Amino acid sequence: MTAERAPMRHVVATLVIAAAGALWFVVWMLTGVGPAAVAFLALPLGAATAAAAAFDLLRRAPLSRPARRFWRLMTVAFGALGVGYTILAVAAFRDAPVLPVMPPAAAAFAGAGFLVAMWAMGRVPLGITSSGDRWRQWLDRSIAFFGCGTVLFHFGLAPMISGDQVWSVQALILLGMSFALAIGGITKVSYIRGGPIDRVSLRLIGLCGLVGAGVAVLMVLGGDPGTIPAQAVVMPIAPAFGALAVRRQWGFTEASVGRSNTWLPYLAVAAVDVPLIAVIPGALTWTDKLVIVASVCVTGLVTIRQYVVFRENARLLREKRASEERLQHEATHDGLTGLANRALFRRRLGEQLEAGGATVLLVDLDDFKIINDSLGHDVGDHLLMAVASVLRDGAGPDGLPVRLGGDEFAVLITEPAVLGETVAQRILDAFTCPLSEHRLLVHASVGIATAPAGTPLDRLLRDADVAMYAAKERGKNNWVRYRDGMRPPVVVHAQLGGEMRRALDAGEFTVHYQPIMSLHTGRIVGVEGLARWRHPTRGMIPPAEFIPAAESTGLIVPLGRFVLREVCRQAALWLAEFGPDAVQKAGPNVSARQLHDPDFVADVQAALADAGLPADRLVLELTESAALRGQQVSRTLRELHALGVRMALDDFGTGESSLSLLRAFPAAIIKLDKSFVDGIELDAPGTPEADARQAVARAVMQLSLALGLGTVAEGIENQQQADRLIELGYSLGQGYHLARPMPAAELTALLAAQHLTAAA
Ligand code: C2E
Ligand code: CA
Ligand code: CA
Repeated sequence: MTAERAPMRHVVATLVIAAAGALWFVVWMLTGVGPAAVAFLALPLGAATAAAAAFDLLRRAPLSRPARRFWRLMTVAFGALGVGYTILAVAAFRDAPVLPVMPPAAAAFAGAGFLVAMWAMGRVPLGITSSGDRWRQWLDRSIAFFGCGTVLFHFGLAPMISGDQVWSVQALILLGMSFALAIGGITKVSYIRGGPIDRVSLRLIGLCGLVGAGVAVLMVLGGDPGTIPAQAVVMPIAPAFGALAVRRQWGFTEASVGRSNTWLPYLAVAAVDVPLIAVIPGALTWTDKLVIVASVCVTGLVTIRQYVVFRENARLLREKRASEERLQHEATHDGLTGLANRALFRRRLGEQLEAGGATVLLVDLDDFKIINDSLGHDVGDHLLMAVASVLRDGAGPDGLPVRLGGDEFAVLITEPAVLGETVAQRILDAFTCPLSEHRLLVHASVGIATAPAGTPLDRLLRDADVAMYAAKERGKNNWVRYRDGMRPPVVVHAQLGGEMRRALDAGEFTVHYQPIMSLHTGRIVGVEGLARWRHPTRGMIPPAEFIPAAESTGLIVPLGRFVLREVCRQAALWLAEFGPDAVQKAGPNVSARQLHDPDFVADVQAALADAGLPADRLVLELTESAALRGQQVSRTLRELHALGVRMALDDFGTGESSLSLLRAFPAAIIKLDKSFVDGIELDAPGTPEADARQAVARAVMQLSLALGLGTVAEGIENQQQADRLIELGYSLGQGYHLARPMPAAELTALLAAQHLTAAA
């Protein structure tokens, strides 16, 4: 509904009437022409105009129910005043030139007008809800009412009542009522915090009543003749205030909640002292005066004390609010990292799912437990804080970063236009740099899931979890978005496990060999054996897909045994065919889980014996991990060492405890992880970037020289990398650039060719 524009005409009319009254008075005073009864015309005309203004408002403005009630009552009040003073004006013309005594009917109408106005004021809602608040407000208002009332009474009504003039009872009652309206209105409006009626409107109506104070002063000063200026000049101002109040209400809808007044009661208490002090110079005994001074002092002090207590209360209230906020924050945030906690996450996610779709990222650190166990909780805590800030930056304004607990984090995407993938990639990019003051390189796996409105919250979280595990299985630092049909890892593993069992018996597994070559001459010096699964329907399945399932189901033990035996058998064949220089070492990968198998050493012995391979040709590739510790493993490693079998530390540099592991571990060879070879060729030598990239490769080389270990650089993909590695002192390498993993037959062909050139 479009509110109509507030009309000005009533305001203008009342102002014109008031001005005309004043003008008439001036002319009348100067010339003495005309009947004095004219003075009584302005007020009824003004009151009628104000009533018309209020009526117009009721008819045409959209008003809330309480506002409508208020203005209906005000229309009646203005109207009644108009009628009352019209009757008085009629009496004035009738009695002229004598000033009229207020007829009882006029007093009745005017009194009713005041009563209705007071009633309307009283019913204006305060916008207060609690009953304690309401009581306090009533007390405060009563204090203010009586305080201000005393002052007005002392200086306004009392002199009239006790003066020599005999005032008509009607006049005194009406004046008293207008005082009551003024004080009631003003104290009320001080406590209104908001609501349907404009505060300024209420104040203006309060001011209408205060006009009565002006009248009282005139009467006291001028006696009966004061009636003329009172009627012609002072009283017509009241309808103008009324019309202005009506105009304020136009277009006013609902006031926002403001602060209610807090100082008015103190002012009122202090104000009552004013009449007391005023009577001191009068005819009182000195003891009376003493009593009055003491009372004034006491009320003053009590007021001050109250005010101090009030300030203190306000401070306590502020502190309480702050501590509530703190508690609220603690209940919804993680203490260590300051991120939102699981509870807040679930609440916000629930709200989003109700309102529309939601996207979540689950972020899991791949290596946190090892760091925590090996480097201590302090280092772990610092790392978690660093991870939190990575998430904060990664999420930016588009998401809410969350710590779910331990090393599990999440991001709730709050900006619907932003893709989960974008945020996931931002986060993973940040993980490529070392984190925290300890400069730790950690990796994360991110699962992304999106669900439409109404999806159960736990369903979405489960999807994200499945996606996160899929990311973990793809290798480090990966994100995966949930697709329909993705199954939870346990289910996947169990199914794959069942199939692998069958595949092992059916002979679907085979071993491919990747040559390890001299970077200088390109000669093959060894091979790494890599498991392959030739699935009858799904084709060649890469190890990344079945090794994790084999690990979690325990099938890695028989699978690893198969690879071990296969590598030994094949290496022995190549040795027999191409002589001792052809394959100096052959390496199967061995899972830590196999080392925990008590039969492992016997298996190795049997494999060597059955194949007829000397133990010193076998190099077991072990990936450093927490599982490489423990008494059982140490004993196994010592026994293998005693057999003459060598060990290589695979993926060296990606674990957290590479160095400390070397102390206890009888390794012979270090395999520099591919991640340190990647990009090693990119920067010009001597620049800080290049130095940073090469730092690990160089350090590993120096370390192996110091400890007398062999080195192999993994994942060489181009000649520049090979060149740079040679510069750094590496002489052996492995990678697609040199040769890809291949079936045994292909490698046999390569070895044959190499054998021929060597012979030539
Ligand atoms: P790994 O032991 O680090 O093996 C090296 C992996 O890097 C192989 O992947 C190889 O094909 C790949 N690779 C070699 N050169 C390059 C290169 O220049 N660029 C790139 N991008 N990759 C290269 P593959 O065969 O897929 O094996 C993956 C992982 O699966 C192995 O990593 C190993 O941890 C595990 N695995 C493979 N076979 C077995 C096994 O029989 N037993 C156990 N326990 N784990 C195995
Ligand atoms: Ca390996
Ligand atoms: Ca490796």
